[in-house]
Amino acid sequence: MPIPQHFIQELLDRVDLVDVIDRVVPLKKAGANYVACCPFHREKTPSFTVSPTKQFYHCFGCGAHGTAIGFLMEHQGLGFIEAVEDLARRVGLKVPRESSDRPVKLRADPDMLDVMQRAANYYRSQLKRSERAIAYLKGRGVSGEIAARFQIGYAPSGWQNLREVFSDYESVALTTAGLTIRSEEGRVYDRFRDRVMFPIHDQRGHVIGFGGRILEGAEHAGPKYLNSPETVLFQKGQELYGLFLARRAIREAGRVVVVEGYMDAVALTQHGIEYVVATLGTATTSQQITKLVRHVDDVVFCFDGDPAGRGAAWRAMMNALPMVKDGLKLSFLFLPPEHDPDSYVRAFGQEGFEDALKNAVPLSVYLIREISTRHDLTTQEGRVRLLNDAQPLLQQIQAPGLGLLLRKRIAELAGVTQAELESLLKLGPSVAKPRLESQVARQSPVLTRELLKLLLFRPSLATRVDVSAIPPTLPQMEVVRYVIETVLAQPDISSAALLESLRVMASEKLCRYLTEQLMTLDAQTFDIESEFQALMNKLERLGHSGNLASILEKPLHQLTEQEKALLRNYRRSAEPK
Ligand SMILES: [Zn+2]
Repeated sequence: MPIPQHFIQELLDRVDLVDVIDRVVPLKKAGANYVACCPFHREKTPSFTVSPTKQFYHCFGCGAHGTAIGFLMEHQGLGFIEAVEDLARRVGLKVPRESSDRPVKLRADPDMLDVMQRAANYYRSQLKRSERAIAYLKGRGVSGEIAARFQIGYAPSGWQNLREVFSDYESVALTTAGLTIRSEEGRVYDRFRDRVMFPIHDQRGHVIGFGGRILEGAEHAGPKYLNSPETVLFQKGQELYGLFLARRAIREAGRVVVVEGYMDAVALTQHGIEYVVATLGTATTSQQITKLVRHVDDVVFCFDGDPAGRGAAWRAMMNALPMVKDGLKLSFLFLPPEHDPDSYVRAFGQEGFEDALKNAVPLSVYLIREISTRHDLTTQEGRVRLLNDAQPLLQQIQAPGLGLLLRKRIAELAGVTQAELESLLKLGPSVAKPRLESQVARQSPVLTRELLKLLLFRPSLATRVDVSAIPPTLPQMEVVRYVIETVLAQPDISSAALLESLRVMASEKLCRYLTEQLMTLDAQTFDIESEFQALMNKLERLGHSGNLASILEKPLHQLTEQEKALLRNYRRSAEPK
């Protein structure tokens, strides 16, 4: 049952962020704000800033940001609900729960989380006792420090080792958690035996599953990699190995490298490339990509250099296509065929790997290269097949810039015009918008971000925004609408509470940008009223030109009288004087 929004507001009003942080990170007064050396990244001069009036913090060094709730989550590793409960306890509030008719997402069963954590602890303790497992990790260049960071463990050989930890070993709970297997005869035994164990964490740091790798020389004993089965906690296609541990490094680097294997992620981290996550032995799914682009807008896929790795890259691209937005940078790093990321970084080190990253191939280049080398484009048949291949790809692309680029390029390769390509492949009207529209697109991200900034600074402004006058196609408009609805439903909402509620709706990048902007605004000198007016005027003008762009696309006989009048006005104003 979700916690009602008004309670979050009340809680954030009652708690003082300065107290909450000062208890664990001593703060110093600096002008209107408080500062400290950032607890989330290493630094010598303080850039971690806490605003007592706005009740949120922002680090100008690493971008960490949030309210009191966010601080507890990030600093103590608490989940959202735990953080809310912790704060409520401090100020003597009881957390109410509202019933909801919306389908509730399967929630982690606390018992099952406990079971997984106990198993993880056990495996870790066993690693110290296994010379073979330690030798394996050392052989792969993994230090004790990195093994501890990833909480790597070892499941000993033998059939019922977990009996040591769980007195109710036969219980269904362990089977449901995927730790034991029940044979048809009803015999219960450990799923993971004689394997190096990699715990898989969710975004809050809970152990939700395991990957087990067989030791060198024991390959007869089953598959090389064995994952936990899918459970209520663990859905492979949703999770990314290492994301919890890497989230800070990803934020600092502004980039993430996606690899296939646990050991690839561990090895890269060992060599100083900490902004890395691994898919869990499946194709990279669109949910995984969505999760990543909430953190950064520069994603590099780096799979093995062999044909299987190339296949994985192609599938990742297919799943990424509908997710691509202009401004999001997706690229592919192809290693030499004899290498995987693990072996590559061990051979060439951090510098070598980062050099290779510079040569990652952008998605558009990769796509064109792949589909054009599959067919002989000197023949008619080859060009037809190219078009057939391109159709499902082009249909999935939502990003106007990328879509246009690829349509042009593919039309060229096939020896047809862009218009012919579009009608042949039954692609919707060209994503190439008239100049006016592209002007809208160019300016708009800045404008909507600016609007969000003003709304967060003074939420009551939301009542004065005429959403219908703003072009609905602007990026982030869904966030703007969400903010307006939230304020209308809760007119006295504070900036901090609004920011907190935005976490579910807006990307991590956008939230970070907004807190940084708000932190640097000087409430004394900032003339919010005139800024707001100027911005609303700009947005309305864009709204008009956006309409115009869509009018220009319509056949003349479909225009309404009003649209014709608008067009006449525009033509007149565009004529040279
Ligand atoms: Zn920081």
